[in-house]
Amino acid sequence: MTLDAAWARRWVAEAQTAVAAAKDDLTELDRQIGDGDHGVNMDRGLRAVTAKLEQTPPDVGDPETVGSVLKLVATTLMSTVGGAAGPLYGTAFLRASKVTARPELDAPGVVALLEAALEGIAARGHATGGEKTMVDAWQPAVDAAEALSGADATAVLRAAAEAADAGATATIPLVATKGRASYLGERSAGHEDPGARSTALLLRAAVTAAEAG
Ligand code: ADP
Ligand code: MG
Repeated sequence: MTLDAAWARRWVAEAQTAVAAAKDDLTELDRQIGDGDHGVNMDRGLRAVTAKLEQTPPDVGDPETVGSVLKLVATTLMSTVGGAAGPLYGTAFLRASKVTARPELDAPGVVALLEAALEGIAARGHATGGEKTMVDAWQPAVDAAEALSGADATAVLRAAAEAADAGATATIPLVATKGRASYLGERSAGHEDPGARSTALLLRAAVTAAEAG
C-alpha cells in the first residue's frame, strides 16, 4: 500500500470522521479528569483541517508531498484546537512534516514520522512516559514501529496504532503528573487520559486510510 499525499489526505478525512463519532466520549473522559473540552476541541480542529484541505487542491505543477499535507494539518490544528492539545498536536504534525517531505513513505519513513511527532510532543509538553498524557500512547506506538521497521509501511502503521490503543487503556490506573489532570493528584487514577485516547483514534485513522488506498 502506498503511503503518499493522497493517503495523508485520506488520513485527515478518516480522523475527522473518527473524532466526530468519539466527540462525546472524549469530552466525557476530559470531564472526569480535566475541563471537558477535549472532544469539542478536537472535533473543531479536524473539521477545520478538512475544510482547509478541500480548499487546497494538489498543485498540478508542484505535486504534494506527505509533508506538505501534514504541515497544513499542523498549522490548522495550532490555530483552531486551543487548550493544551492544540499546540501539542500542532507541534507533533509540524515536526512530522519536516521528515516526510517526499511523495511516498516506506516503513522507515513511517517510523521517522512517528518518532518526530513524539519528539515534538515531548519537547512542547516537557513530558515523558508514565505521566498520564498523550505521550503514553505515542511512546508505545513509536516503540512498536521501531521494532517492526523491516516490515511494510502499512504493517508498521498498524502495529503503532495497536500499541497506541493499548497505551491509552494503560493510562487508566496512572496518576497524572502533567497537564490539567495533575491538579487532581491521586484522584486522576481510574480514568483514561483523553489525549492518549484521541492519539489512538488518530493512528487508527491512519491505518484505515492506508487500507483504503
Ligand atoms: P486542556 O487540558 O487545556 O483542556 P485538552 O483537553 O484539549 O486541553 O487536552 C488535554 C490532553 O492534553 C490531556 O489528556 C493530555 O493527553 C494532553 N496533555 C496535557 N498536558 C500535556 C503535557 N504537558 N504533555 C503532553 N500531553 C499533555
Ligand atoms: Mg480539556
